Amino acid sequence: MIHPVIEIEHLSYSYDRTKVLDDINLTVEEGAFIGLVGPNGSGKTTLLKCLLGLLRPQSGSIRLFGEELKKFKNWHEIGFVSQKASSFNTGFPASVFEVVASGLTSKLGLFRYMKAADRVKVKKAIDAVGLSEFSKRNIGELSGGQQQRTFIARALVSEPKLLILDEPTVGVDSASVQSFYRMLKDLNRRLGITLILVTHDVGTISDKVTRVACLNKTLHFHGSPKEFDELNGQSLSDYYGHPVHVLTHDHHGEGHHHD
Ligand code: ADP
Repeated sequence: MIHPVIEIEHLSYSYDRTKVLDDINLTVEEGAFIGLVGPNGSGKTTLLKCLLGLLRPQSGSIRLFGEELKKFKNWHEIGFVSQKASSFNTGFPASVFEVVASGLTSKLGLFRYMKAADRVKVKKAIDAVGLSEFSKRNIGELSGGQQQRTFIARALVSEPKLLILDEPTVGVDSASVQSFYRMLKDLNRRLGITLILVTHDVGTISDKVTRVACLNKTLHFHGSPKEFDELNGQSLSDYYGHPVHVLTHDHHGEGHHHD
């Protein structure tokens, strides 16, 4: 039997007495590419931390690949690329290959003991994010988008089934955003990796993903991009607390960024 990748039931989380996640129910099926959207402070990071076992929810349950979170051991099946990934490395003296290979070092120890099969894995991960020509380049010489791709490759090297990306397009220049999303779609479709993309950008998400989930303390919406586009602007604005303009094409509009 194929289990959903994630099953969240009646999940609530409070910092001290402030409830920031309230009775969340969400199932992520294998092969989905889900956009998890919500304004700043809506609980996206808190939900990710609960999923990754970094915070313990006061109530509710989480199952990963059919296993109760507490008992889940196959963490190599889950890749996580944080928003800050691409910003610490400028000037860091390592090649793309070395950074990606470092995703294996917890298992390998030192680079010099890499087996041929591990080198193949590293090369495959670099190919999958479209950076094969940049393998020997120093990461500090790359653009924001290429650095972000490098960190995605680093997560891919342990062959995860689920990849969680927190605001991955922060630092990607606008000219490269479309090809960046094409690369993500390719990981989802060709490699069959289930993707969760976390973003505050509710306006341009629906043509990128196969599912949209809108969080703002509660889960206000979960459905297909088509259903999401059919929500009227008023309903979205009501739960965001400010006007929201959802665009169904690729350009950013005015008025939906409230950072
Ligand atoms: P998002 O990722 O959507 O911006 P967060 O999950 O970071 O939202 O935050 C949700 C709410 O929880 C916010 O109101 C934030 O101020 C609060 N919060 C986040 N982290 C803490 C913390 N460590 N202690 C207390 N409150 C927190």
